[in-house]
Amino acid sequence: MTAPSWSILRLMSHVIVTPVPCLQDNYAYLVHEQGSTEALVVDASESAPVLAALAERGLTARAVLSTHHHFDHVGGNLELKRALPGLEIVGSEYDRERIPGLTRALAHHGGADLAGLSVRALAVPGHTLGAVAFVIGDTVFTGDTLFIAGCGRMFEGDAKMMSHSLLDELASLPDETRVYCGHEYTVANARFAISVDGDNAAVRELLARAEKARAAGIATVPSTIADEKRHNPFLRVADPGFLATLGLSDSVSGFAQLRKAKDSF
Ligand SMILES: [Zn+2]
Repeated sequence: MTAPSWSILRLMSHVIVTPVPCLQDNYAYLVHEQGSTEALVVDASESAPVLAALAERGLTARAVLSTHHHFDHVGGNLELKRALPGLEIVGSEYDRERIPGLTRALAHHGGADLAGLSVRALAVPGHTLGAVAFVIGDTVFTGDTLFIAGCGRMFEGDAKMMSHSLLDELASLPDETRVYCGHEYTVANARFAISVDGDNAAVRELLARAEKARAAGIATVPSTIADEKRHNPFLRVADPGFLATLGLSDSVSGFAQLRKAKDSF
């Protein structure tokens, strides 16, 4: 039997992602290359479930990537650092003073090679001013900026800033990019999406799929950038046809109106 060609191999993802449910509805993630025992941790909400998941899979964590400074995303950083000597803590340059235990600060488009993986940071301010998404191969970790069928609240930024982060940064990633977000909010987000985009079959299919998955205790991550462009109202504002149904013609106003409506949904 001949070996598969390089072009076929290239299509297969070698980055293995394991969601680790934490706290109420957060996800931390273990990330490792197929065949490697070195791993990265994304958003260590708390240390115990992360340490247990690492041990269960025989993985050694080399670094924690923190998408932003909120406690439910960094609460385990210092305990992990104590438990795992030499552990790097990586976050945004902006959050140098806000991410516990930070050892490496990345600027927009800054990169780092960790645990055999190439990590690239995208600054995506809006939920917080220091929010970053981490791109690893064909995968993006979006923290509380982009959720499946939703987005985070604007605690520090404004609509112009956050819609730029979503529409110009995250939606510009290749369509096949896998999206792993910080919370399991898909069912609630899909219900809101139906309230503003009810004629969209992709949204109705998502709600049915997500309800079934959650009833069976299955995580709804990952999604893809292509999926999000189809069912996420906060990305759909890039479509003039959708904006027209909101009575608007520019995407920033559309984003602001939807975010306000979601805040009280
Ligand atoms: Zn947050």
